[in-house]
Amino acid sequence: MQDAVIFDPRDTDAEAPAGGSPQQEAPSPLLDALDARGRREFNKLQKRLRRQVGNAIIDYGMIHEGDRVMVCLSGGKDSYTLLSILRSLQRNAPIDFSLVAVNLDQKQPGFPEQVLPEYLESIGVEYHILERDTYSVVKEKTPEGKTTCALCSRLRRGSLYGFAEEIGATKIALGHHREDILETLFLNLFFGGSLKAMPPKLLSDDGKNILIRPLAYCREADIAEFARLMAFPIIPCNLCGSQPNLQRQVVKEMLAEWEKKHPGRLESMFKAVTNVAPSQLADRELFDFAGLEEAQARRQASRIELLNE
Ligand code: SF4
Repeated sequence: MQDAVIFDPRDTDAEAPAGGSPQQEAPSPLLDALDARGRREFNKLQKRLRRQVGNAIIDYGMIHEGDRVMVCLSGGKDSYTLLSILRSLQRNAPIDFSLVAVNLDQKQPGFPEQVLPEYLESIGVEYHILERDTYSVVKEKTPEGKTTCALCSRLRRGSLYGFAEEIGATKIALGHHREDILETLFLNLFFGGSLKAMPPKLLSDDGKNILIRPLAYCREADIAEFARLMAFPIIPCNLCGSQPNLQRQVVKEMLAEWEKKHPGRLESMFKAVTNVAPSQLADRELFDFAGLEEAQARRQASRIELLNE
């Protein structure tokens, strides 16, 4: 039996040190140039991200005493933010857990190999660069004109899952945020004929790895602003020359448009993902519609019993 989980959201309110870049982070000229008001805004933003990540960790029991969390670092804004916020929570957490950053070098032409090692060394975090030429496989296997991202992500996942076992990681942390989850929900709704999204915590199909998504409650706009101010050395994902998944892009724009016209709609939709009523849907695996008569008889019998008492 593992120990109870860790973070008290009240602990997540500690502020970044005033003036200069936050402790143990690479220097950011943008952050250093902020005036007092800008610094206050940044602190608020950082506190919000810490609180949301802390709450997601508690709500889904993501991290326990002694966990070794492998943070998958792609070089994009989301994974840099994930690593930064987890490190900052780790400093105040009442339990011990370790973090190890892992980047998969997929051998795309032009991949700036030195960027992540330099960054990770500058902040003093344990890391590994895993080299796997998935780029050649993707190029070879994907028919001309088809998008490469699905196969690329699958191969990436396979490599990272295997490596997590090799280094003894007990959890694999991914940088998906609230909008990623909602986009997946709508993609499945529109094209997959299923009502499913991306869970905050997941056991891999082979049962060997537990995946966690600590940014599940975080808004993409907050993450983008945090990454900008922290001046993370972002590496673009389209080095392979591929178009991003077109349908995902369309859904992303649809959600952004809805949020613009009806502020709060994304929050409400995300809440819906956490508040499912199987009896109000139509999945016979999730709810026993055929057994409603029996349920009705049971209820009536217990009502009669109550009246006779
Ligand atoms: S853009 Fe390129 S590197 Fe990124 S997921 Fe798609 S195929 Fe892979």
